Amino acid sequence: MPLFAITKPSNHKSAPLPFAFRLDLLPLKTKKRSKSDSGEEQSDRENTIICAYCSHAITSPESRTAIAGTHEHAFFNPAGVIYEIACFRAAPGVYTEGFATGEFTWFSGYLWQIALCKVCRAHLGWFYTGKEDYFYGLIRNRLIEKQ
Ligand SMILES: [Zn+2]
Repeated sequence: MPLFAITKPSNHKSAPLPFAFRLDLLPLKTKKRSKSDSGEEQSDRENTIICAYCSHAITSPESRTAIAGTHEHAFFNPAGVIYEIACFRAAPGVYTEGFATGEFTWFSGYLWQIALCKVCRAHLGWFYTGKEDYFYGLIRNRLIEKQ
């Protein structure tokens, strides 16, 4: 059973779409399995979670993690906009911008930085650093799970 279903963005009219081009999907892992260890034909490609705007590979289902007890969280920002986010241990497809700050942090004890798609620079979530660990909180409807 999937931990959550990622839906296409419903608010993409207001979201940034800086570039119209589309890159071929870069797999996060290139590990290949032999035919013998799986009956599935598509097993040479890992499931990937991609940017909803440009299809760049962002993270993978294997990187899901639970923070404060759950994988998914929903928060309002100071402007009253609700964000549904999912937590990941790694997200090689994003980069962070700005200094880490604890202002308005949604996770007590963690500082955050904005996390942007490396290809189209869409805002995909936040990178949180705590005293002993870190994680990415990524906005669910800005990602698509590709299988
Ligand atoms: Zn993108």
